[in-house]
Amino acid sequence: MPDAKPKPIETAKMMKRIMADHFREADAASREAGKKLAWCTSVGPAELLHAMGFTVYFPENHAAMLGATRTATDHIPKANAIGYSPDICSYLTADVGAHLAGKTPLQDAYGLTGIPKPHVLVYNTNQCRDVKDWFAFYARKWNVPLVGVESFRGVGDVTKEHVDSIAGQLRAMVPELERIAGRKLDLDRFREVVKESRETSRLWRETLETAAHKPSPLTFFDGTIHMGPAVVLRGLPVANEYYRALLQELRGRIDGKVAAVDGERHRLYWDGMPVWGRLREMAVQFLGLKTCVVASTYCSSWIFDALDPAEPFESMARAYTELFIVRDDQYKERYIRRMCEQFSADGIIWHDAKTCPNNSNNRYGMPERLSQALGRPFVAFNGDLNDLRCYSDEQVKTQFEAFVEQLAGG
Ligand code: SF4
Repeated sequence: MPDAKPKPIETAKMMKRIMADHFREADAASREAGKKLAWCTSVGPAELLHAMGFTVYFPENHAAMLGATRTATDHIPKANAIGYSPDICSYLTADVGAHLAGKTPLQDAYGLTGIPKPHVLVYNTNQCRDVKDWFAFYARKWNVPLVGVESFRGVGDVTKEHVDSIAGQLRAMVPELERIAGRKLDLDRFREVVKESRETSRLWRETLETAAHKPSPLTFFDGTIHMGPAVVLRGLPVANEYYRALLQELRGRIDGKVAAVDGERHRLYWDGMPVWGRLREMAVQFLGLKTCVVASTYCSSWIFDALDPAEPFESMARAYTELFIVRDDQYKERYIRRMCEQFSADGIIWHDAKTCPNNSNNRYGMPERLSQALGRPFVAFNGDLNDLRCYSDEQVKTQFEAFVEQLAGG
């Protein structure tokens, strides 16, 4: 029998259109007089940049495209050759390597001649230091200003001191951004963008939470595709229109008892990065195993409950410090435990991504501790987000098969 295919989500057609518009706008902003383009890390201060009239481009999204198109592995050695280690973030090395090779998937997908060149690069180290080093490469190369936020890491409770420090850093970057933008920050506009962004976050949360339903109308693999607007367009009305449409489709699936995985028998939680070059293969394997990966730390990382237009700087500071990746292991354990309970997960998959220790939470005994606390099994596999040389198809396939057999009591 041929392999089952993942069920198409109709709203994806709308996403293709709005993502194409996004890349074309970024391209125009990089070249046309009177427009300004800012590059931003995926959990960087996008709301502030939008409020100041920048078009915002997210290199991590581009790096994930390099992974999904399976070109990343070809480009990584070019970055290694100029001194970027094969052990550091393979988003960074794939993106820099592709740039050195003069290649981008934006050429074939949207007809762009290259990645859009920014007027300013804006980072937040809340996720890792790699993003700063990544942007620093382009800052040197193009002689473009680099500004950013140095975040706390390993945070337990988020305190007023944390929030004041980050809000202070956000405020401190405003004069430089105003100089580059050629306009003053309009506080009312800033509040409006934060309000829209909070709505994007709320709708994205609701979208992911549809997967708590049994059977789930959505898989983690769908989520990795449909999170695009929550990452690159949050704060813009078009992202909210998109998630309203997607939610309608998913609610229709729930009402019609349409499962993302026909005959759903097992439900799993995913921690760690996706393997971008193997999304489809994994989705197909889990369909065959009648197992739905229902929720993940990764997709939920673009939910920012704290955003509040009444306090745009402080609430952004809080939202971007409350992130899972910023927190200590006690918080992370409580979080994953809550997620497994909310989504009725029977077990957990831990992806140990070779080049992203920041998003690999299995290295200090957490899977064992959580498995004991929850009474649910886990599987941990070695792989990578982009560098497929660190990933073995056969080994991981066999691990997943054996894990599902274990769940079935086989
Ligand atoms: S969090 Fe990991 S994948 Fe993301 S930019 Fe940092 S090192 Fe790369």
